Amino acid sequence: MTNIYYSPKRSRKYVRKFDYYEAQERYRSGESGPALAKEYGVSVSRIYQVITPGERDRVQAYQDSIYKGGANCIRCGAPTNLAARKLGAKLCIPCARDKRIAAHANKTVRDYSLWCNGCKRWLPDDAFGLYNDARSYRRGRHYDCRKCVARARRKRRHRAFAEGRARTLK
Ligand SMILES: [Zn+2]
Ligand SMILES: [Zn+2]
Repeated sequence: MTNIYYSPKRSRKYVRKFDYYEAQERYRSGESGPALAKEYGVSVSRIYQVITPGERDRVQAYQDSIYKGGANCIRCGAPTNLAARKLGAKLCIPCARDKRIAAHANKTVRDYSLWCNGCKRWLPDDAFGLYNDARSYRRGRHYDCRKCVARARRKRRHRAFAEGRARTLK
């Protein structure tokens, strides 16, 4: 049951105590998993990793995802971004975005009023214009109230006018 394994990478010979191809063969020919585990001196779960099709690859991929710098989102299980993870992120990018939006909604949305980003106060829903690509968490309303939006528009127009005139005067 021991066999010599030659590693071309390190040009060394290893004695592999646990030959999983042999274990697979023996399992297929009818020997029981726990009996094989006992004989090879490995855990029963290790035997099942080896004899279940695809299971070894799955375990390997999981280990790679951890040891090769990978990890999974603690919320949905998707792989997280490596750069973000170095900064301590435990969530994938979409989950992190959801979390940010939820935090923002928490601070700027109440049952019957919304926070205006322009005049920095709470106002009832109808003080805000409806957005085309509605932000559902803001009930489809703008970040700024109608007055603030109008003021900003007026400012933009003034600036454009002033700049346009400056150009013609040159
Ligand atoms: Zn996620
Ligand atoms: Zn406002």
